[in-house]
Amino acid sequence: MNVFVTILGSGAALPTGVRRCAAQVLNVGGFKLLIDCAEGTQDRIRYNHLKLQSLGTVIISHLHGDHFFGLPGLLSTMHLCGRTEPMTIVAPKGAKEVIETTFELTGNHVEFPIEWREMDFEEGMQRVFEGKRLTVDAFPLVHSVPTYGFRITEVPRGSNTPKVYSYCCDTAYTESILPFIKGSDLLCLECTFADDLAELAETRCHLTASQAGRLARLAEVGQLLLTHISARYREPEILLQQAMSEFPNTVVAEDSMRVEVR
Ligand SMILES: [Zn+2]
Ligand SMILES: [Zn+2]
Repeated sequence: MNVFVTILGSGAALPTGVRRCAAQVLNVGGFKLLIDCAEGTQDRIRYNHLKLQSLGTVIISHLHGDHFFGLPGLLSTMHLCGRTEPMTIVAPKGAKEVIETTFELTGNHVEFPIEWREMDFEEGMQRVFEGKRLTVDAFPLVHSVPTYGFRITEVPRGSNTPKVYSYCCDTAYTESILPFIKGSDLLCLECTFADDLAELAETRCHLTASQAGRLARLAEVGQLLLTHISARYREPEILLQQAMSEFPNTVVAEDSMRVEVR
């Protein structure tokens, strides 16, 4: 099946005119999965000609604004556009309360059914979504708030080998995730800082470029996709070079880029 990811936002916490905050859509044989939903995501969905109402499932890595603040607006717009189809939202514990409180205090509401699946576990990997086209397994990352990485696996049809896409954003360096991302065809890792800012990366629970490359090498993945690029890097060349010193088959995400999972 055709499996590809469209990058809606490839930046870190501060959006710029070139890089918006975290959001992407994984398309598996026509099924579209929204991964993270920063402010402005609904705008980027339209800009990239992805049909808003065709999104049936959203998975949120953590509740930092640069991954989550777009969700109330997205849901509200879906309602205004007449959505009746149910929606599944997988997110860390607390997300449901934030959204419901936001709607309650602002006089907004949605009429379509939302099935919430809140994640609240500190070790191992758990199946959080099972659809006709793909399954999603979640595992804890190391960040300043509860954060989860995802291993998304295509449901095999006929004799094809199922493709695997893994997404880890945001996280400090940890080899505890290696069993969960092992052998992914495409691994999307955050890469907030270049190597000279390793101390800052450690303090803020983010990865440097060569740490991202090392994780890709140790996990024996097919290709590495770097995202969550700090606004300080107008040209990401330095990040690419440093990651490639550990893992050559690396690309840097750009907004609106489409990357195939091979
Ligand atoms: Zn972030
Ligand atoms: Zn974060």
